[in-house]
Parts: sequence; structure tokens; C-alpha cells
Amino acid sequence: MVTFQAMMRYDWTLSELQKLYNMPLMELISKAHLEHLKFHQIGEVQMCHLISIKTGGCQEDCKYCAQSSRYQTGVKAQPLMDYEEVIQDAQKAIASGACRICLGAAIRQVRDNKQFEEILKMVKGISNLGVEVCCTLGMLKESQAKRLKEAGLYAYNHNLDTSENFYSNIITTRSYQDRLNTLDVVQQSGLSVCCGGILGMGESIQDRLELLLTLSTRHPHPDSVPINQLSAIAGTPLQDQTKVDVFEVVRIVAIARILMPKAMVRMSCGRGDMPFESQALCFFAGANSIFLGEKLLTVANTPLDRDQEMFAVLGLRSKKCFWFSKS
Ligand code: SAM
Ligand code: SF4
Repeated sequence: MVTFQAMMRYDWTLSELQKLYNMPLMELISKAHLEHLKFHQIGEVQMCHLISIKTGGCQEDCKYCAQSSRYQTGVKAQPLMDYEEVIQDAQKAIASGACRICLGAAIRQVRDNKQFEEILKMVKGISNLGVEVCCTLGMLKESQAKRLKEAGLYAYNHNLDTSENFYSNIITTRSYQDRLNTLDVVQQSGLSVCCGGILGMGESIQDRLELLLTLSTRHPHPDSVPINQLSAIAGTPLQDQTKVDVFEVVRIVAIARILMPKAMVRMSCGRGDMPFESQALCFFAGANSIFLGEKLLTVANTPLDRDQEMFAVLGLRSKKCFWFSKS
């Protein structure tokens, strides 16, 4: 009997990923589907909800981001959301089926200040609702990760977004190593690592594969891998980028599944205008998480009733929370 651990590999090579990428699509998604079934129940999809607790006015220059203060995107800097409002938003999402609440802040890094104390309170409040609580607050120090964990934080998102080679074309106010350092802090603090990227920023296919190679040669693999499709925001340097082809998304989802068979592969930004057929292909290829709600940070997402209709049409069931830690 091959143990689950034995099915995990951390020594993937770029040439193996290129071979996977060049497989005929039907062969690739069938291979990915079989890998998916080794760890996951067919048709189970985790519902998450992302709350932008601190919107706009970010000092970083991420070329894709509506919240960077460098670009005229119409997104205004807002103060930190009120505790009660965040809890209510979380309760509403949980009532709609969400079992993971993600708190996003448009900040470069966490600072030891009043805002962080407020965020710790929010983490505790949501953790007490009995669901997974995740934060994405930029770069993080060990002491801050420890305090977040003590407050009940389950996971921390910190996306690498693309390959190391392409990174400086997208972001110049921090380095890839800065991101990797925070991922190490998160991992060493015992928090669940959530790390993925964005497709459609002008990166090459090799860049996409190199991102997956970086993720899948980390030991352990990230527990959660968000796959974003660029939402080309007016006013940002990437505003004229065309949407990535759906079959490219399916390929990347399938390869992510094959490389990291246990991870939660999350359909994140860019899912909103995907027809059910495209999403069904992604789920078959190994995606098993979506974000619920009208907005994903500042970008339109899928209306709740449309996701409920999709669950019914595709026969999907919501995945219980804390699945990862129990499996
Ligand atoms: N500021 C923190 C950081 O950068 O880690 C956290 C929040 S950030 C807004 C959350 C993630 O959303 C980014 O890492 C990026 O992967 C994704 N994202 C942001 N804007 C996007 C866009 N226009 N299209 C696709 N993905 C986007
Ligand atoms: Fe700031 Fe995060 Fe947006 Fe980059 S992605 S500009 S760090 S909010």
C-alpha cells in the first residue's frame, strides 16, 4: 500500500513540467484527475470568502493591483474596517456555506501597531466562529506570525505571483526573496501556507511553469495554491492585457494538481466570467476551491446565486473546513 506521503514529490524538474505542459489536453486532465482522487473526494469544493479589511493606498507598485497608490485606478485609500462589520460579513459568508474566511489588507508588511492589534482581534473573533481564518497582510516577521497563530489564525496567504525571472517586470518595490522569506516565516510558525500566482500578466509559459516548480519543490508543498487570472484594472500598467486563454488555465490547474496532489487548488480572481463548462473542466482537472461573494477585494466576483446554481448543475458539494489538517 503506497502511503500518501510516498505520493508526494519535492524534486520536480522543469523538463518534467514542460513534458506535462505539452501533453494533449485530454491526457493531461485525465492524469490530473486521477492524482486528484488520491487525496480528494470527487466534486468536493471548498467555499472561501475574502474580506478586504484595509483597502487601497498601498505603497507597493505591483503592476496588476488596483490598490497600489502608484496608479490612478479610482480605488481610494480607506481606513481599517470596523471589527463588528468584519464579523458580520464573515457570519453572512458562513451562512452561505463559506468555511474559510480570508482577511486581505493592502499593505506592504505588518507593523506592530494599533492596526495589527485590531486585526488580531478580528482573527480571534472569526476563529471563534469555528471556521478556517486566513490573512494576507504582506510581509511578516516571526513574532507577528506567532501572535497571529496565538489569536487563532489557521493560514497565511502570500502569493509569489509569477517566476523569479519575471517578477521584477511586475513588482520593483520588493524582491522575490522577500516573498520567499515570508513564506519561510509562515511555514516555521506552523501556519498553513497559501501561495499561488497570476496568469495573464505578459509572462511566458516557462514563467508559469517556473512558478509551479518553485511551489512544488518547497517541502512541504503549500497547503493551498490560489490560481488567479489577471483582472486587467484600468489605470494599472497591465490594463491592456488580454484575458488568459481558458485552456491555459485548465493546463496550469492540472499541472498544479499533479505536482501538489494534496494541496487545495483555488480558483481565485478571474473566475467570475467563466461559464460553468470552463469551471467544470477546472474542477475535473483538480481545482477544488472557490471564493464566494460579489467582490474579490476590489474586483467583481461571481454572484452567490450563480455559484449556488453551478453547484447544483455540476453536482458539487462543499468541502468541510480543516480538511487539510485532518487528512
Ligand atoms: N497586499 C498583500 C500582498 O500583496 O500579499 C495581500 C493582498 S493582495 C491584494 C492579494 C493577491 O491578489 C495578490 O497577491 C495577487 O496575487 C492577487 N491580485 C491582486 N490584484 C489582482 C488582479 N488585478 N488580478 C489578479 N490577481 C490579483
Ligand atoms: Fe499592495 Fe498587495 Fe496590491 Fe501589491 S498586491 S500593491 S502589496 S495590496
